[in-house]
Amino acid sequence: MGHIADIVASTAMGRPDIHFKLIHNNKTVKSWSSTTSAFERVIDVVGTDLETALHPIEFASNGISVSGWISSPRITRTTSRGMFVYVNNRFVRDRIIQHALFQGYSQRLVKGQFPMAIIFIRVPFDQVDINVHPTKNEVRFGQQQKVHDAVKKAVERTLYETDHPGWRPVSSPWSTKSKELVNVSDHVSGYPRKEDRRQRTEDRRQGIKERVHKTQSYSQRVTRDAQPETRRSQARIWPKKQFRDLRIIGQFHHTYIICESDEGLILIDQHAAHERILFEKLRSQSDDASKAAQQLLVPETVELGFREARGLEKLIPELTAMGLDIEHFGGRTFVIKAVPAPLSGREVKPMIVEMAENIVSIGYSAGLQKAVEQCCMIVACHAAIRANQRLSDQQIDGLLEQLDACDNPSHCPHGRPTWIRWDLKTLEKSFKRIP
Ligand SMILES: [Zn+2]
Repeated sequence: MGHIADIVASTAMGRPDIHFKLIHNNKTVKSWSSTTSAFERVIDVVGTDLETALHPIEFASNGISVSGWISSPRITRTTSRGMFVYVNNRFVRDRIIQHALFQGYSQRLVKGQFPMAIIFIRVPFDQVDINVHPTKNEVRFGQQQKVHDAVKKAVERTLYETDHPGWRPVSSPWSTKSKELVNVSDHVSGYPRKEDRRQRTEDRRQGIKERVHKTQSYSQRVTRDAQPETRRSQARIWPKKQFRDLRIIGQFHHTYIICESDEGLILIDQHAAHERILFEKLRSQSDDASKAAQQLLVPETVELGFREARGLEKLIPELTAMGLDIEHFGGRTFVIKAVPAPLSGREVKPMIVEMAENIVSIGYSAGLQKAVEQCCMIVACHAAIRANQRLSDQQIDGLLEQLDACDNPSHCPHGRPTWIRWDLKTLEKSFKRIP
């Protein structure tokens, strides 16, 4: 029955114009009436609770077009059963498309997680062979790479635009900062900013004047940003001030930073967040201070296996550019003379071994870029603030500010989330304040 239901579901999503009814033992199990809206049919099939978790994708190039919906990386499955792919309206199971989908989600999922996706691909009919398999569930594309890249780009673009924090700064009169400023700023705008909080101690009057000016423009911006449809169609970059706008409540278990936004409570994993920040800095081509090499007082010697030594040797120029000054001493021995600044004081030997082993395990065929990315990930992981580490207010401020500058602030390079949020409504439900 499960298998039949799957077939009916996949067929129904491809043909919203047809009424589908699934009857089992004289009982109607599913009934989806015909509709002109493909999305309406999708929601009928997958369930209304996913309505806000699905984001549209859209991409067209070289006669290939990709459309459909994909889930936020926070909504995942443990199997590929939530993935539906249609080529020229025919339901298919295709490994190339699946690979492209996962590439699009790169660093936003951990191993073993599957996104939900409904993807419609249109290609010219002479560029697809549907007779590869008797069930006609498999296809062969004339331009496989182009179809792959179109799907990957469509997914990447949508996630870049939608997978970021979308909260508003605290505007409630209950927060300490607006309580003090309630007469002035609350009349002007509901969104006093965090810089203003700092200014307050300096010159209140002057601060308030500036705040009036600043908050006006900010509230206008917020109003504009409250229209996701417009934002998506214009592919506008989201306002990169999300984390600094949070009100910091404190540190929990010396591991998580607790903050509040207008909608609820936000917990930030300090290690995952810092890992993301360092990773993006190391990967960038810029000459950032955090990549500046820190000379080791006593150079460290590392002995590697034969294959590991060969792998590491090839990456020395890239590692040097990252701030990791490493020399091949001969044979299987390497000498580490300097490390990227955030690594100073940390043990480097285990990191070098991990790096070399990784280079070997991913293989050279994956390309230099992939190997460099792996190395950036390992350095970031070793250099990042740990769990169970007490942070000062300035450190927390700095972390949030740098998180705002990230391309993908919501996930660490391994795909773990950097933050989670409890909406006020969810909390109120838990406390039985609301039904
Ligand atoms: Zn991680």
